[in-house]
Amino acid sequence: MAARDPICQTKDLTMQKQEWVFIFLLVFCWVCLSIGIFFFWRLTFLGLQQIHPILPRLIGIILAGFILLVGLGIALFLRILILGKDSWYSYPLRRLVTRYLFPLMVIVGRLFRIQEERIQQSFVIINNRMVKIKGLSVHPDRIIILLPQCLQNDDCKMRITKDIRCCKKCGKCQIGEIIPLLDKYNIMCWVATGGTLARKYIAEYRPDAVIAIACPRDLSSGIIDCFPIPVYGILNQRPEGPCVNTLVDMDRISWAIQNFVSLPKQ
Ligand code: SF4
Repeated sequence: MAARDPICQTKDLTMQKQEWVFIFLLVFCWVCLSIGIFFFWRLTFLGLQQIHPILPRLIGIILAGFILLVGLGIALFLRILILGKDSWYSYPLRRLVTRYLFPLMVIVGRLFRIQEERIQQSFVIINNRMVKIKGLSVHPDRIIILLPQCLQNDDCKMRITKDIRCCKKCGKCQIGEIIPLLDKYNIMCWVATGGTLARKYIAEYRPDAVIAIACPRDLSSGIIDCFPIPVYGILNQRPEGPCVNTLVDMDRISWAIQNFVSLPKQ
C-alpha cells in the first residue's frame, strides 16, 4: 500500500484548516467579482442605452452569463477537491483558479487582513491536493527536484548550485541527506538561488512534473509560472528566519518521489 502524504496523516480527503482559507477566499472572490461587474453594468447603463436601447440588456445578459460560468467553474473545482476525483474538466478549472482567481484572492485576502503568506500556503496545499488527485506517474528522467539554496548551511563553501553532488555530506545541513534519494531513483535535481533561476531550469528542461521545495511566496509564484506542468510543493521550515539555514521534512520528499516516480520495469 502506498504511504500516505505526511501532511494528511488522518484521511486523504480531510480538508485542513489552511484549505478552508483558500475555499473561503475563492467563493468570496466570486461574490466580489459579481458585485464589481454589476456596478460596472449599472454605471455604463445610460451610456449604452444612448448607443442602442437594446445594448444594456444584451451586455447585461453577457455579463450575467460570464458570472454564472465562473461560479459554475468554482463549484466544479470544489467538487473535484472534496470528492478527490479527477475529471476531464479539471485542466481549464486549474487554469482559471491558478492564473486568474489566485491573484484576485490575494487582494481580497488583504481586505480581511489575512496574511499574504497564509494565502500562499493554502494555495500550495490546494495545488498539492490537485496534483495528488491527478495521480502522477512520471518516468525518473521526466521529473526534476528543485531545492532552494537556503537549505545549504550558510557557512558551507561547496558550490552545490553547479552540481549538488559537490556536497561532502558533512551533516551540517540536509543537502547530504537528499543525495542518496536522488541516486536511488536517478532523478535530476537543481539547487536554485532564486525563482528566476528555477524558472530558467524548468523552461530549458520542460519536465513532466516538478517537486519543489521553497518558501510559500516562491512556491506559489513557481506553481503559477510553471502551469500547466504539475508542481508538487513542499514548504520549507525557517527556524532562523527567511533565506538562511532552512529545513525540509525529508519524509515529504521521500513520499513525493515514491508516489510520483514510476520506476521502469527491470
Ligand atoms: S551537507 Fe553538503 S551542502 Fe551541507 S554543509 Fe555539508 S558539505 Fe555543505
